Amino acid sequence: MTFELSREHEEFRRSVREFAEAEIAPHAEQWDRDHHFPVDVVLQMGKLGLFGLTAPEEYGGAGGDFTSLCVAIEEIGRVDQSMGITLEAGVGLGIHPILTFGTDQQKEQWLPDLVAGRRLAGFGLTEPGAGSDAGATRTRAVLQDGQWVLNGSKQFITNSGSEITSAVIVTARTGDSSTGPPEITTLIVPSDAPGFVVEPAYRKLGWHSSDTHPLTFNDCRVPEQNLLGERGRGFAQFLATLDDGRVAIAALAVGCIEACLEMSVQYAGERTTFGVPIGAKQGIAFQISDVAVMAEAARALTYKAAAIKDAGRPRKEFKKAAAVAKLYATESAVTATRVATQVFGGYGFMEEYPVARFYRDAKVLEIGEGTSEVQRMLIARGLGLPVE
Ligand SMILES: Cc1cc2nc3c(=O)[nH]c(=O)nc-3n(C[C@H](O)[C@H](O)[C@H](O)COP(=O)(O)OP(=O)(O)OC[C@H]3O[C@@H](n4cnc5c(N)ncnc54)[C@H](O)[C@@H]3O)c2cc1C
Repeated sequence: MTFELSREHEEFRRSVREFAEAEIAPHAEQWDRDHHFPVDVVLQMGKLGLFGLTAPEEYGGAGGDFTSLCVAIEEIGRVDQSMGITLEAGVGLGIHPILTFGTDQQKEQWLPDLVAGRRLAGFGLTEPGAGSDAGATRTRAVLQDGQWVLNGSKQFITNSGSEITSAVIVTARTGDSSTGPPEITTLIVPSDAPGFVVEPAYRKLGWHSSDTHPLTFNDCRVPEQNLLGERGRGFAQFLATLDDGRVAIAALAVGCIEACLEMSVQYAGERTTFGVPIGAKQGIAFQISDVAVMAEAARALTYKAAAIKDAGRPRKEFKKAAAVAKLYATESAVTATRVATQVFGGYGFMEEYPVARFYRDAKVLEIGEGTSEVQRMLIARGLGLPVE
C-alpha cells in the first residue's frame, strides 16, 4: 500500500501553513505567556473548515479523509502546539465520538456547531484514580426518572471549560459486576447541565494556551437520551477513540520535530563561535542530522497509520500502527526539542525564542492519549507477547 501524500494533500498543507504563519505564529508567544486561550483564532480555524475536515457534508463538513486532518494538525502544531492540540481534541475527542456512535438526533443536535468550529467538545475519560487504567473509572451514573444522574470527577480534560465549549463526553460506571469489569457507559454532558462544575484551569508546564480543567459532577443531571451509543459499550468506545487520537497526536509531534529542525538549521547557519558558524562543527551538525532523520521517520510512520485508517484496513493492524507512530513520533519530539534548545545555547532557555516553548510543550506528547509505556504495551500485545 502507498502512504505518500497526494498533490491535493500537499496543496492543502500549503493553505494551512499560510494561515498558521499569518494568524497564529506571530501571537503564539504572547498567548503562551498570558495563558490565553484565543477563541477568535479557534473560530477562524473553524471558518477555514479545519474542524470539519472529516465530517460528512450533511453536518457542514468536507467529507475528507483522516490524512487531511493529520496534515492540518501537523501544520498548526509546527507553529503552536497549543492550537494544534485544541484542533486535535476538538475533532478527535469531541466530534468523532458523536459522529461514530451518536444517534441521528444527537448528530443533528451537536455536530453542526462543532464541525463549524463555533463550539468545542471535550472527552472526559481520565480521573484522579483512573488514567492508564481508564477502566477503573469511579464516576457513576444512575438512571432516575428519565435522567442520568452523575457523581464523580474527571481530570486533565482538554477543551472542557472554554467559553465556546458546548459539551463534554464522559465515561461513567452504570453497573457493577462481581465477576467481571464494571459496566462503563458514555454520556454527553452539556456544559450547562445542572450539577456540572468546571473547576479552575490547571497551571501546566506547557500547552499554556490550550484549555484544560478538572471537572466535578454533583448530582449532575442529563437527559436519558444523552446516552452515546449502547449502554455498557463505553470501554470499547474510548479504546476506538484513542486509536485515532494516537495518530493525531503523532501528527502534532511531527509538527514539533519539523519546527525544531527548521529553527536549528537556520540558527546553526547564523550563529558563529570561534570564527565559524556553529553548523560547521560536527558536534552540532550531526545532532541536527539526527533530528532530520526523526522528522522523516516520524512523518512516514504517522501517515502510514493514517493511510491504514483511510483504507479501512483491519482494526488490529491500525491499532498497532497507531501505537508505533505515537510512540516513535512523541519520543522523537522530546529529543528534537532537547537538541534544538542545546543548539540555541543560552538563548534556547529564553522564552523569547520559540524553542523554549516547544521544549516545554513536547513532554506531554509522551503522556496524553496513552503514555509511552501504554504504547509499548499495545505494541507488545500486537506482537503476541503475553505482556500484562
Ligand atoms: C495537558 C493534558 C491534557 C489531557 N487531556 C485529556 C483529555 O482531554 N481527556 C482525558 O480523558 N484525559 C486527558 N489527559 C489525561 C492523560 O490521558 C493521562 O494523564 C494519561 O493517560 C496518563 O494517566 P495518568 O496521568 O493517570 O498516569 P498513570 O496512569 O497514573 O501513570 C503513571 C505512570 O505509570 C506508568 N504506567 C501506568 N500503568 C502502567 C503499566 N501497566 N505498565 C507500565 N507503566 C505503567 C505510566 O506510563 C506513567 O508513566 C490529559 C493529560 C494532560 C497532561
